[in-house]
Amino acid sequence: MEFSSRARQKHVRLAGDRREQYPHSLQFYLEPPTESISLVEFESFAVDRLKLLKVVENLGVSYVRGTDEYKSKLESELRKLKFPYKALAEDDYEARRKDHISHFILRLAYCQSEDLRRWFLQQEMDLFRYRFNELSGSLMQKFLEHVNLSFEAISEDLKNELANELSVSTPGFSLTKVKEQMFYKVGLADAVDLFRARRVFIKDGFAFVPFKEIDVIVLNNYRTKLSKALALTARSLPSIQSDERLQPLLNHLSHSYVGPDYSVQKNAGKISLDQIDALSVKSFPLCMRQLHRALRDSHHLRHGGRMQYGLFLKGIGLTLEQALEFWKKEFIRGKVDADKFDKGYAYSIRHSYGKEGKRTDYTPYSCMKIIMSNPPSQGDYHGCPFRHSDPELLKQKLQSYKISPSGITQVLELVKGMHYQLACQKYFELTHDVDDIGFSLNHPNQYFTESQKLLSGGREVKKESNNSGNFQQKNNSQESINSSSTPTSSSAKADTELEGLEAYFTED
Ligand code: SF4
Repeated sequence: MEFSSRARQKHVRLAGDRREQYPHSLQFYLEPPTESISLVEFESFAVDRLKLLKVVENLGVSYVRGTDEYKSKLESELRKLKFPYKALAEDDYEARRKDHISHFILRLAYCQSEDLRRWFLQQEMDLFRYRFNELSGSLMQKFLEHVNLSFEAISEDLKNELANELSVSTPGFSLTKVKEQMFYKVGLADAVDLFRARRVFIKDGFAFVPFKEIDVIVLNNYRTKLSKALALTARSLPSIQSDERLQPLLNHLSHSYVGPDYSVQKNAGKISLDQIDALSVKSFPLCMRQLHRALRDSHHLRHGGRMQYGLFLKGIGLTLEQALEFWKKEFIRGKVDADKFDKGYAYSIRHSYGKEGKRTDYTPYSCMKIIMSNPPSQGDYHGCPFRHSDPELLKQKLQSYKISPSGITQVLELVKGMHYQLACQKYFELTHDVDDIGFSLNHPNQYFTESQKLLSGGREVKKESNNSGNFQQKNNSQESINSSSTPTSSSAKADTELEGLEAYFTED
């Protein structure tokens, strides 16, 4: 894939129509795209696929896969984002092209660590399963031939001869059903999962697989291919990392989430410092509740914690003046004297509000950023407790917050399946006593806003009459950088600049 610069190429297609590349709506993504595409298209394809995979993840936990509800919600998302949602019959060249290119972009972004690879593989597998099962029998057959997975159907004579064995060894297959369905002779290596689960009849080194179980084999095959491809892509990372246009984009995508970035201080000055203790219990997500407690207990937070918590507080509405007062009051109760605070820590707080240095107005961290980068070490309290806490400690913490035993079990199950944000959604439901959170959680500040909406019956955060001043004037140029609702190269730029800010926070 080659890329052209944003300035020269707007949203135009750079290559001609390559319809013949996509004879099927479904793909194994074996060949990377070779056409040139603009950076604008690159970004928009990547963001749309990320949105789709997030929906796949959410649906996979909220609904039983394959049920009508699951299928109709996924189809509607595919339609909305303009990915292929029906098979061959449709003239959906644009959708197929987008599907192909966006898969490869996210493959680049998500090959960078074991956690990312696992997440990407899981969502892509679920997406593929849904789409494969939506194919009609004949389209399935065509697809299998296309990807060289055509299995030999056994003759009627052989089926009749083996009818008893097939019925006994294939769960759910009566003799009548055996007669109705096609059976395929598949090499054992391709049918390991079915063989292990004792779901097929084995004879002479072949598994006899009913048509309805073929998806297991195809998925197995796809999983092997995709995990190998991800490992190979990871090996070629150094050459990708040397491309200065791509690397920030890919990094941003893998830490990215798709929603507002909470950089615009809509609620600036609406919260008083006296409210924070109560809010931390009622409306803070677990990560911020943990940071707040640690700060109150030890009157100090190390720089990872100050960054994560400080920007969150800014996002919920603390003005710069309030932030300075809040941190100072707490720190001078510990080992830091007022003079040291004013000389060191105060500068870094002003910096995070865009009042020092490059005057970048820093954006509160999204869940993906917290989950994926800068894991906490001993003595740190930042990070995501669902991702970074030992499950036993997490359990104790939830017990101390009076979460019911069954609720804790549900949260821990989600954590075990590495669905950290969904575990957090469950925590929201349990602490707010609602059955369905009704939104897809991507950001700690979103958690706060939704909680406040719910607790105040749909109203915005209540305005404090005695606020300590809202003198912060937003720098317009910064606003345009940060108000983007999707990960863009400018937000990637903000990420890079954050590293500059972190330098100011190195003092523990
Ligand atoms: Fe915080 Fe997000 Fe983790 Fe929830 S999922 S605890 S909001 S980082």
